[in-house]
Parts: sequence; structure tokens; C-alpha cells
Amino acid sequence: MRIAVIGAGWAGLAAAVRIRQLGHTADVFEAGLVPGGRARRVWSRALHAHIDNGQHILLAAYTETLALMRELGLDPEALFYRERLTLKSADDLFSLRSLPLPAPLNLLGGVLLARGLGLTEKLGLVALCTRLRQRNWLTEPGLTVAQWLANGSQGTRVVQAFWHPLCVAAMNTPPEEACAQLFAHVLRDSIGASTAASGVLIPRTDLSTLWPDQVAHYLEKSGDAAGHVEHGLAGSLKLGHAVKALYTDTSGVEVDGARYDAAIVATNTPSAHRLLSQLAVVPDAAPYLDAMSRFDFIPIATITFRVEQAWQLPHPMMLLREDSEKLEFGQWLFDRSIYARQTRTATDDSSTGDSAPALLHVVISDARAMMTHKQEEVVSAVTRQIQRQANPSGARAAICGHHVIVEKRATFAARPGLIRPSNLSPWPRIAVAGDWTDTGYPGVLEGAVRSGRLAADRLIKDRLCAAI
Ligand SMILES: Cc1cc2nc3c(=O)[nH]c(=O)nc-3n(C[C@H](O)[C@H](O)[C@H](O)COP(=O)(O)OP(=O)(O)OC[C@H]3O[C@@H](n4cnc5c(N)ncnc54)[C@H](O)[C@@H]3O)c2cc1C
Repeated sequence: MRIAVIGAGWAGLAAAVRIRQLGHTADVFEAGLVPGGRARRVWSRALHAHIDNGQHILLAAYTETLALMRELGLDPEALFYRERLTLKSADDLFSLRSLPLPAPLNLLGGVLLARGLGLTEKLGLVALCTRLRQRNWLTEPGLTVAQWLANGSQGTRVVQAFWHPLCVAAMNTPPEEACAQLFAHVLRDSIGASTAASGVLIPRTDLSTLWPDQVAHYLEKSGDAAGHVEHGLAGSLKLGHAVKALYTDTSGVEVDGARYDAAIVATNTPSAHRLLSQLAVVPDAAPYLDAMSRFDFIPIATITFRVEQAWQLPHPMMLLREDSEKLEFGQWLFDRSIYARQTRTATDDSSTGDSAPALLHVVISDARAMMTHKQEEVVSAVTRQIQRQANPSGARAAICGHHVIVEKRATFAARPGLIRPSNLSPWPRIAVAGDWTDTGYPGVLEGAVRSGRLAADRLIKDRLCAAI
């Protein structure tokens, strides 16, 4: 069968690979010019370097993403920098590092040895996590994270130092709005997991090089695993093609006029809603489309600073103390210089002979407040913030450039009660995929990959093969 995939984000690409693995052909249509969607490489003229559209991290518990990379012949151990779960502030006032012990002792020990919390706060934090584990990571339905924390008697200091940064980083939604049950899933996979599974993975390459770039070649290969060529099976990745028209009838699907057996719509929700709204009305179409139209989005900003020489911070990912009154919105400071292998960062332009520049990345999740201010004022304030917190002696090299990327629709707002559509749409030959489907995760990479793989499996096995 020939199946069209609309969108080359991590969900669409994961779906395309699975289609190929099941012996069918996938043609992927992508509006942008670089594969990866919301996790992709961009060229910064200001910094004369390839950077990501936003700094991303993964958890070692993101098993499907790691499995997919291995299936593409890639080695996650080489492509990620891995380290134990560590929350350490740049100003050294707060530090919590899970210990290399079996779960739950890894967290228990880490919390008890943490710096910046009192004994009562530590015991309260451990008690809340223990209760959640005993309840199999289930919270009462409909609670926000803030309500769950209040019910769990968490005081202001532990909320500010630990829970708030963790919630905003993991869900891109502040505790007052975020769904406690989704947060519990994140906790299960991070502080609740074994030492190995709770590790944090930071990409060593840009996000498109990590694996999305490999997919075009994989789809175009028309041979089977033993190298036998099957003519007519080659798929493709069509960049710069924004799909406008979608149609389906009982025997197939048309994507901008081209005929397919089926399609997976792996775009964001506004685009998916626009495409699916063109289809003939079928039973259950109205609530399905309605659910798709109810997503709100929250921005994430990333400020990438160029420094004259690598700062070589003691840790690649450090917490910043935020002060929105002073426009000091920075939440995390990433310094990849500790482990950077300069695979491709500086070079579509390698002819110039430039070496990769030293970069720092400041992440501002839930950037709604930041966006109400002038960008240059925020950059100046965040520059002061990182100098004061991560370079108080002024001994580190000077900052000599910056590039700001604000992703306005970075993730959906992960609020309680949000209805998330399932992969199989009411139209028999159309599935959807994306981090916004009912994955049980907030808007994260692993959710996107799982959604893409499941969409392809279910469309082919439950719908198309069942109909033959
Ligand atoms: C700044 C930032 C930081 C983040 N940090 C993290 C993190 O640390 N860890 C983590 O796990 N997650 C993080 N996320 C979330 C993660 O990036 C997303 O969950 C994931 O990339 C979503 O993938 P997707 O395939 O579902 O959607 P998308 O990546 O949005 O893919 C949809 C694709 O469809 C294309 N498209 C849309 N309409 C059409 C059309 N009509 N025709 C053709 N193509 C179309 C789009 O161009 C896009 O490429 C972050 C996101 C951002 C923006």
C-alpha cells in the first residue's frame, strides 16, 4: 500500500518509518524545509552556526524514541550525553542529584542529601512521592499540580525550588494550570524510575541530525532487510510542500490530488483540524473535530548566546533563579561545551573554515510573560542574570552575540480535563499522529514518537488489513 504522511515532525517521521517497516510505502509531505518539526535544526546568521529551534532534553525512559533510533542504525549512546537526574542551580544554592542506588533509594538518598531544603521539606517531598508511587502514579481526577501539591502539604520553598521548575520544564504549563495526572506520569518516568531509566539525555548533535535527517534515505531505500530490491516501493520525503487539500472515499485518499491507500495527518492541531474539516461528514466526526479545536498553546523561548570561549560550567544543565520583576526570565542554562562533539554545528558553511562557536542556551518555558516585553530588554536582563548567577567572578569569557527563538505554539497547555483525540479518526482511511493525541504524556518528543508508531500500526493492522 502507499500511504501519505502529512508533517515531518517526530510523529510523522516515526509513522513513516513504521509504515516502511511493515512493508508499505510512505510519502511524507512537509511544509518546512528541514525535517524535525518543533524539534529541528535552524541556521542562525547572527551566530553563524546551526542551532536548534529550542534546547531539548529527553529522559532515558523514552524507550520508543531510543528504539526507533536503533532501528535506523543509529547509536543513542554516541548521540546523547547521558547523566543522572540532577537539579543544580547555577548559583549553587540548590542541588538535588539522584544517587546510583536502586529505586526508590536513588531518589530518597538524593533528596535527603539535597542542598537548599530543610529536613521537614525533604521528608514532605519524599512522603508525597512515596504516596504517589503506592497509588501506582494515579492522582485524583481533575486536579491541577498546584492543588495536588497543596493537598500534599508542600511548603512555599520546596514548591519554588523544586516542584515549580520541574513542572514548567516538563509540561511547559505552570503548576496552577497543569494537569496533576500527566505530571504524575512524568514523575513516574523520571524521579520514580530506576537510576538507569531516570537519566537525562542531552543531544550531542542538532535535533535534525539526531535522527530525522536519516529518514529520507531510509524511505527511499526500496530493498528489504536482505537487500532484495522491490521496484515501486520507494517512498519519499517532500520538503517545502504544505498540503492544502485532503479527500477520502471508500477506496482511498487524495492528498493535493495525488491518490493513496490511506493517510496519516501528523501536523499540529490547527492544521490537522483544517485538513480534516474538508472531509465529508461521517458519524462521530463532530466531537472528534471539536476536541481538536480545543487545544491552547504555550510558547517557549530560547536565547542562544555566543561566548568568546566555552564557559565550561560544572554541569551541562543548570537551574537559574527567575525574577520576572527584573525581566530575568531565564529558567535553565545549558552549556554543552563539557561534552560537545562538533558534529555539524558550524557547517553548511564549512568552506569558510570556521570552527564551531562556543554557545550557551537559556530556556524560558511558558514564555507568555516574557513576550509582553521588548525582546532586547529581556536579552539584556537575562544576560545580567546569567552573569550574576553562573559567572559571579566575571572570570568567564565575554558574551559576543545572541539569537532569540520564540516558538509561539511550542506545546499544548496540559490542563486537567483536556480531551485528546485517539490515533484512529472517524474516517476509516485516515489516522492522526502528534504529541497532542492521547499518549498519556504532556507535549514531549516521546509522546510524538509513540503516537506516530501507534498511528501507523493501528491504521495498517486494524483498519486497512482488516478491510482486505
Ligand atoms: C522550544 C521547544 C522546546 C521543547 N523542549 C522539549 C524537551 O526538552 N523535551 C521534549 O520531550 N519535548 C520538548 N518540546 C516538545 C517537542 O518538540 C514536541 O513534543 C514534538 O516535537 C512534537 O512533534 P510532532 O511531530 O507531534 O509535531 P510537530 O513537530 O509540530 O510536527 C508537525 C509538522 O507538520 C508540518 N505541517 C503542518 N501543517 C502542514 C501541512 N499542511 N502540510 C505539510 N506539513 C505540515 C509542520 O511544519 C511540522 O513539521 C519542546 C518544544 C519546543 C518548541
